[in-house]
Amino acid sequence: LIEVTNLKKAFDQVEVLKQITFTVEKNDVIAVIGPSGSGKSTMLRSLIHLEEINGGSILVDGDYLVQDGVYAKSQDIKALTAKMGMVFQHFNLFPHLTVQQNLEMAPRLLKTESVEAISSRCHDLLKKTGLADKAAAYPANLSGGQKQRVAIARALMMNPQILLFDEPTSALDPELTGEVLKVMKNLAEDHMTMIVVTHEMGFAREVANKVVFMDGGQIIESDHPDNFFTNPQNDRTKAFLQKNL
Ligand code: ATP
Ligand code: MG
Repeated sequence: LIEVTNLKKAFDQVEVLKQITFTVEKNDVIAVIGPSGSGKSTMLRSLIHLEEINGGSILVDGDYLVQDGVYAKSQDIKALTAKMGMVFQHFNLFPHLTVQQNLEMAPRLLKTESVEAISSRCHDLLKKTGLADKAAAYPANLSGGQKQRVAIARALMMNPQILLFDEPTSALDPELTGEVLKVMKNLAEDHMTMIVVTHEMGFAREVANKVVFMDGGQIIESDHPDNFFTNPQNDRTKAFLQKNL
């Protein structure tokens, strides 16, 4: 579904992504782990063109978003990034809109579907994320876990082919992480393709089919969680796991 080849990204001459190469197949759940500053967020943001990369290629569903550092036409960039949904650490909900309005805004702006079809999908997704009774609530009146589930439902409203999560539970109180991870686990069971940057090793172990360890702007090691956690190959991976398991 996504092929990243030799992706390079620098901020003010400082290389933060150095020749990153990886592939995402349909139905993959990829957990990305690694120390602070290793480039995890920059990598995710590059995929949906929230960052412009300085070299390499990103192929999305058979078409190049960027090929050897040259970006597609802005129209094509829009079409390709629309295949991806993103969920951020800090929810990024619109505070002045209700839950239902948050979900319906983007699809309504597109004007490609009837209001009824949009509202029916909205109700389905709120039900799926355990928020059926919160359609009329404002974000300020929700718990962190509920807000993050709204953010997930909102991303799903656009029928993305892949969901990207950047530390979706890091801003939550520990007792609220579980309900968000549960929704993500359900999505995985429904065969949603996902890349999840996370510190939740339990989630990586149980739900992901591939774990990617990043350090210093590079992918150091990547493997099925069964091998990754029991038999890490690289010394940096071993040291990271020792600190974080
Ligand atoms: P964390 O676990 O703390 O979220 P991360 O792995 O997501 O870290 P990134 O946020 O991708 O790391 O940052 C990678 C490097 O790029 C860091 O050294 C960071 O300081 C730098 N960086 C990120 N965004 C910018 C920016 N907009 N301008 C300059 N430097 C940046
Ligand atoms: Mg980050």
